[in-house]
Amino acid sequence: MLGLRSLGTQSRRGAQLVGARSLSKVVFRDTYGAYINGKEVFPTGADTFDVENPATGEHLCKVTSLDKKTVGDACELAHDVYQSGIWSRSDVRHRAAVMNKIAIDLRANINNLAEMEVAQTGRAVREMKAQLGRLPEWFEYFGALIRTHEGTVPPFFGPYINYVKRVPLGVCGLLTPWNHPLLIAVKKIAPAIATGNSIVLKPSELAPVSVLELAALCSRAGLPNGVLNVLPGMGPSAGQAICSHDRIRKIDLTGGTPTGRAVGAAAGANLAGVITELGGKAPMLIFEDADIEQAVNGAAFATFVASGQTCIMGARVLVHESKYEFFMHALTAKARRIRLGDPFDVTTQMGPVISANSRSRIAGLVERAKKEGAHVFTGGCNAYLPAPFDKGYYYEPTILGVHPAMEIWREEVFGPVVVAVPFKDEAEAVRLANDSPFGLAAAIWTKDVMRAHRVAEQMDVGIVWINDHHRNDPSSPWGGTKDSGVGRENGLNALHEYTQTRSVVVRTEDSKWDWFEQPNARYS
Ligand code: NDP
Repeated sequence: MLGLRSLGTQSRRGAQLVGARSLSKVVFRDTYGAYINGKEVFPTGADTFDVENPATGEHLCKVTSLDKKTVGDACELAHDVYQSGIWSRSDVRHRAAVMNKIAIDLRANINNLAEMEVAQTGRAVREMKAQLGRLPEWFEYFGALIRTHEGTVPPFFGPYINYVKRVPLGVCGLLTPWNHPLLIAVKKIAPAIATGNSIVLKPSELAPVSVLELAALCSRAGLPNGVLNVLPGMGPSAGQAICSHDRIRKIDLTGGTPTGRAVGAAAGANLAGVITELGGKAPMLIFEDADIEQAVNGAAFATFVASGQTCIMGARVLVHESKYEFFMHALTAKARRIRLGDPFDVTTQMGPVISANSRSRIAGLVERAKKEGAHVFTGGCNAYLPAPFDKGYYYEPTILGVHPAMEIWREEVFGPVVVAVPFKDEAEAVRLANDSPFGLAAAIWTKDVMRAHRVAEQMDVGIVWINDHHRNDPSSPWGGTKDSGVGRENGLNALHEYTQTRSVVVRTEDSKWDWFEQPNARYS
């Protein structure tokens, strides 16, 4: 049952035209440098790369591309700043105060930063503002966490007190993607600086400017120079130079699974720790007792928000066979109503995908799925909008009826494409959901509270939503299993990821002792 005869394959009609409510006021400078030691720098002879607007294909600005030597110098500088103790050994009350000031300044600058992100990524402005509006919470949360965090006193054998403190790691290398440039940078920066580390961060070459702006904002808010350095450049050169530098004590990457393997291998050679938040293929399990209308809304949100370019996007929808036809009708109708258009228009619901390359990759996967017999409920092709958006990389919201043997069931598309399969009972739903190389997230739609928890227990993923999707909070662990990566962002987990224990064992008995003169001495 790949398709439904009654639905046909007609594509969505009536794409949103360019709106009069376009809000863009953002102005990019001609060229941006790197941000090192509290200032923007343009190393002599450095190359630049272009950043473009994916909604129109227009050039936005140039950005300095750092080579291995400059990256190495910045890692040494970050190490020196760490060693100086100006931040790493500063009072936690001071660190928490700076974190709170960053949160205040960030809140005052959300609109500018959001518009910058819209121009770089093409994501609809209403979504970008909603997402960025929550960023200050990460600084507030980790500021509060470091201020209130307490060590432990394990029950050590004998006349000893053992106290255990968490201390920073040193210089941490952060590698971030283009899809949520600021959100993902902030998820990593906040715990890393709260705990006293120094940072070298390489943003995506596709969307580096807002991250550079954030670094300057942090300096103005009181973060000492050299604690947060932003090093734009190419992944295989600047990115690899960070991963293989021997001053780096931890690499924290959000990116694709192949990048995760490359980064892990380079960091492993220096015995540096690694956190990798990688790809996904999240299943949405729609049971027969779910509120189907709400599940349709939830699935559309899960799948098409950010043009499907999120790691936890609802990529596979599994629907109980008794509700499959009804659900697919409703989801298809909803997808066809999504308004594509100018990302700066407040009424636009979906923008383009990030680049020409990305769109061709998405189209290639969909074309191969069609050849393998996928049924196109809707979409399955590029979307064409009037000028100037005719040069943008728009792709239709796409729903395919597939079979789990197909390539598109397993591969991450990273675009607005969801594949659908019916299931006959709970056991089959669980088996299909776990039939993936990825294990980042899953959503369960049911009103049966016992089933909800029973099924959640069986999901081989790091995050499960029940009757919802995409929900995230600075306090809630975020990360996956299998090819979705190792380690966790957010919450106490992130505090632990960015610290290590220092265990101090104190002798409390004031008596002479000599190991070699004590025949019955206990060693441990
Ligand atoms: P990439 O893996 O291409 O890039 C991520 C970052 O790593 C970029 O800064 C990139 O630089 C850099 N990089 C690329 N190659 C190397 C290398 N060999 N060594 C060091 N650094 C390198 O991912 P995308 O930017 O395309 O982002 C999309 C991917 O991110 C998807 O797979 C998505 O699922 C995943 N993702 C995961 C999330 C999660 O929380 N689990 C959240 C969001 C996205 P450059 O851009 O210059 O190539």
